[in-house]
This record gives sequence, structure tokens and C-alpha cells, in this order.
Amino acid sequence: MIGVFGDVDRVRSLGVEVGEVFRGASTLGEFVKGVTPLIWVPKASSLSEGVEDAYGRRYLFAFGNSGCIANPGVVDRLLSVIERLGSLGFKKVLLDAARLPSPIDGLFFVSTCFCSHSLGLCPSLASVRSVVKRLLHGASLSELLELLEELAEARATHVDYILARARDKARELGVELVAAVFPYPLSKLVGQDPKVLRRYLREVHVMLYHRCPTAACLNAELRSLVEVAKLLGIPLDQARELVKRVAGLELSVSEIENLDKGIDLKHVERLANLNREVYGSAFVPILWLDSDTEGRIREFAERFGRIDVFAPRKG
Ligand SMILES: [Zn+2]
Repeated sequence: MIGVFGDVDRVRSLGVEVGEVFRGASTLGEFVKGVTPLIWVPKASSLSEGVEDAYGRRYLFAFGNSGCIANPGVVDRLLSVIERLGSLGFKKVLLDAARLPSPIDGLFFVSTCFCSHSLGLCPSLASVRSVVKRLLHGASLSELLELLEELAEARATHVDYILARARDKARELGVELVAAVFPYPLSKLVGQDPKVLRRYLREVHVMLYHRCPTAACLNAELRSLVEVAKLLGIPLDQARELVKRVAGLELSVSEIENLDKGIDLKHVERLANLNREVYGSAFVPILWLDSDTEGRIREFAERFGRIDVFAPRKG
């Protein structure tokens, strides 16, 4: 079975059968058979709902529209969207971006979130704030990794919190929750710890985008990660080790230098196998459709039983 994000006709033109289509919740005013609404979880109404760095500066992450998932405004908005979709008759919704900032958000990846709601949810963050401020002036690789590990716990608590709230609302309405998430182990650093995700989601759709420029695209996130490390004063010759530790991938120096051009599909396959082990039958890979993957969609579908394709609209 193949699920599609984006251009459905483009996927059908490859001669494969499309079983499920994901469409933005805001575009859906009525029930449509075969369509699963996609909800952008951290949708913020204004900067006041943004994440807050160690110095109190607010920021809207990802596509400039995402706030802190511990903020009551963000949580209430999510619950009301689930309620609206449930009342239209949808029995399943896909949660997107149930997380905190990622490497593509630059230094906000290491310096958020310290808003009052986050501190209320994770009081231990108060003691991490001074460490963050210190490391922003210069960190070693091991200091950065240690900090990210520490932040990962607080971030997982955030994701646990919002998924628990969403699950309670969805249960009330008889709606099933699934989500699109970062690939493990990079996922852990944005709060998407497999332990937490498995608790709430029947399907875990893992974004394995090998060549695209924005948030959640693996190559763009890794390129940004290397840039963040550079800003913290970590020598470039440690980039391979950083990528290995953070993303579980062994990239060559030249692959790291050319992340703008994407990453080889062999790395995507490695992560797909790893994430299948982690999530078992709940695992669904999402592949980025381009000239590299077009000819291999059937092969992937046969191998994984169920796959999704993200087909960007051409032109
Ligand atoms: Zn916060």
C-alpha cells in the first residue's frame, strides 16, 4: 500500500496504486474518503507562542509558524482541530511536527525552549539554562553531545505531554492518531523518543527525505547540524563523528561537504532498516520522490509492505 503527501497524480503516473492521501487539515471542510488529515502540531498564532531561548528571545521554528508545544495556546489549537476533524467524520489524523526545533533552526536547536510553560513541565531545565549560555560561547564535541542528550530528555517530556493531550481528545472522539516523525536516532534530539511515540501512535511514519532543502529533510538537517557545530567552535574535522553520533550515519568527508546535493539512498535504506527494528509493524517509511527514487517505489513497497511517498509539485 502506498500513501501520498503532495502531488497524487504524479505518484499515480508511475503506475502504482495509491491507498491513502494525506492533506492539510485546513484545506478540509468536509469528510473525504481515502483522505487522512494532516495537522501541523506546533502551529502558533503569534511570536508570543514561540519557543524561547536561554536569553528569553522568542522564535517561531521550522517554517516560521511553529511555537512551543507546552504553550496552552498551541495545545488548545491542536485539540480544537482534532475535534473539528472528528466532527466531520474523520477516524484517523496524522500529526506533523510534534517536536521542538531541529538543527535547521540554527542555534535555537541548542538553546530552546526555556519558556515558562517548558520550565513548568520540566523544572530540571532551569539548571540547564546556564550550561546552554556557557556553551553558546564555545563548546567541545563531547560538551555539545552531552548537552543535546540532556535537552533530549526535556524535549521527550514535551512530546509526551502534547501526545497525551491529543490522545485523550482523539479517544473521546473515536479518532486514531498517527504521526510523521524524524528518523531515529536524530529524532531523539527533537523530542521524538521512540519510547514516547510507541506509547501513543499506531503508525509511525518516518521522514527519510534524501534530497530537499527544508525542515525535516535529512540532508538539510545534517548540513545545518554541521553549521551549528561550527558556530560553537567545533572543528570541521569532527563533523563526521558528530553526524555519526547524532544521526547514526557514517558519511565520508566529501558527502558531508556536499549535503546540499542530498545523501545517497544507501544511507536512507540503512535508516529505514534501523527504524523498522525500532518501531516494528508500526513503521512506515516516507520517501522523497525524485529521479533517484521514482524507479524504486515498487521495490521499497515490496520490501516494507507499506510506504508513503512525498511528491513535491513540479514547477
Ligand atoms: Zn517552551
